[in-house]
Amino acid sequence: MGIWRLPFDGNLKPYEEGQQFGQTSYPRGRGYFHDGYDFGSAKYSGDFKAVNDGKVIYAGYYGSGIGYAIVLQIGEYQVMYQEFGNTYYVKTGDQVTVGQPLGRLTSTHLHLGITKKNWQLALSSWDIDDGTWLNPIPILTSGDSTDEDTENKRKGMMKMFAYMIEGRPEVYGVWGNKVFHLTSKEMYKDFQNIVLDQTGKECKTYTWKLPNNQSTVDLISLMAEKVNI
Ligand SMILES: [Zn+2]
Repeated sequence: MGIWRLPFDGNLKPYEEGQQFGQTSYPRGRGYFHDGYDFGSAKYSGDFKAVNDGKVIYAGYYGSGIGYAIVLQIGEYQVMYQEFGNTYYVKTGDQVTVGQPLGRLTSTHLHLGITKKNWQLALSSWDIDDGTWLNPIPILTSGDSTDEDTENKRKGMMKMFAYMIEGRPEVYGVWGNKVFHLTSKEMYKDFQNIVLDQTGKECKTYTWKLPNNQSTVDLISLMAEKVNI
């Protein structure tokens, strides 16, 4: 097992409430629980990829509500890709490496779910928050496959904050070792909601002073230094 990544190339994009893992205001089955994370076609496109090294334990049509599904065994996790359409490139038994294309998004979204249980049994908990389905985002963005690291991030210890550079209009969001340029008020608001959602705390926004005559390159290295990446 190597380093986790997102199923699509590029950074995680700010999301709509209905796409997130956990409680939402949208009714589903026995409550309001969403058991995975939806990568919507408005922001993600093309091939979706293996989020880590693993083995294909299911690939094919699973039934209504799920459609075609691909399930990877990755260490102790079972990672389920579903609702992506019907284009896929792997078969049960294949070994896959992180970043390997598994299929193509041809529907409105790819639903990705992660569980440590048997995925078929776990499906019975699709609409209840009983600990069966895990929040995929802290795992996929952990940048590290160790359980301790992932666990710490789940507990909200991961570094998440926003910052501005004095005298400049841009706002940046920091999430672990990633930096997002928040290009609109809406994105900034979305990011603040993500921080609250992930850490249980309000997002702090810092203002950093940039020494005179600094170029963009210096700005990036200053960011890297401040963010510790
Ligand atoms: Zn979903």
